[in-house]
Amino acid sequence: MSGLAELVEELTIETRAGDLRGDSLLQQLRAEIGSNLGRTKAGASSGSPVPLNVDAFALWEDITGQIASMFVSATDRRPDKDPEVNLLAWWAVFSAAVYRHETVQLQHDVAGERLESWAQRIRDHFAAPRTVEVMVPCPNCGYERIVLGEADQAEVFALVAVVKGTTVTVVCRNPVCKDAFGEPSQWVGERQLEELGRRVGVRVDHRALMTAVNSPVESTWDPSDDMKGDLAEPFNPADPAHAALLDTPTD
Ligand SMILES: [Zn+2]
Repeated sequence: MSGLAELVEELTIETRAGDLRGDSLLQQLRAEIGSNLGRTKAGASSGSPVPLNVDAFALWEDITGQIASMFVSATDRRPDKDPEVNLLAWWAVFSAAVYRHETVQLQHDVAGERLESWAQRIRDHFAAPRTVEVMVPCPNCGYERIVLGEADQAEVFALVAVVKGTTVTVVCRNPVCKDAFGEPSQWVGERQLEELGRRVGVRVDHRALMTAVNSPVESTWDPSDDMKGDLAEPFNPADPAHAALLDTPTD
C-alpha cells in the first residue's frame, strides 16, 4: 500500500525528489491560481490585471471536485473547503478499512489509478514543454523544412512535436499551412499522432516522442507530384513567391 500512501503525501503534504522537499502538488496548484486571483482584485498595485490561469483553475476544480466526492462516499459527511483535509480524511477511513481487512484488491487498484492520474495531471501542468523535430513532410502543406528568422535565418523541419508532461502535440511551423477545416495544422495525443503517421507513411510514436531528445524518423512517404516541387526547397517567408502565399486569404 506504500504507493497509495506516497501519492496521498505528494498530493497533500509535500513533494520529494531525493533529499529535496517541496510544496504538495495541490498546494502548488492552489498557489498558481491564488497568485493570479490576488492580482486581479480591485485596488491591486499592478495596473494591468493578470488573467486567471484558466488551465490551472479547470484542473483545480476537476480534481478537488473528485476528491470531495470520494470523501463524501467514504464518510457521508459534508466535505471541507480544503481538498487536502478531504483527501487525508478519506485516507484515514480507507486505511482503517484496510486494517480490518475490509477492502479488496480492486478498491486499491481503483484508488491508486485515480490518485496517480491526479498527481500526473498536476505534474504535467508544471512540466516545462520540450520540442522535438519531426523529420517528415507535413501532409497538409507538403513542406518538410521551413526557413525561420529574419536576419539569422535558420532552416528547420516544418513539423515539430511539443512535449509537455505526457501530452504530445505535433504542429506545422509553416504559417500558411491549414488543415481540412482551415485551422492551423496540429495533431494532439496518441490517436491523432497515429493518424498523422498513416498520412506520411511512418510510425509517429507517441511514447517515443514523449521521452525522445530528438526523433530521427526517416520518411518513406511518397508525396503526390504536385507536392514534389514544394519539397525541393524549404518554405521561406523571405522568398517573394512564398511570401505571396502568406497574403492569400483562405476560403
Ligand atoms: Zn504544414
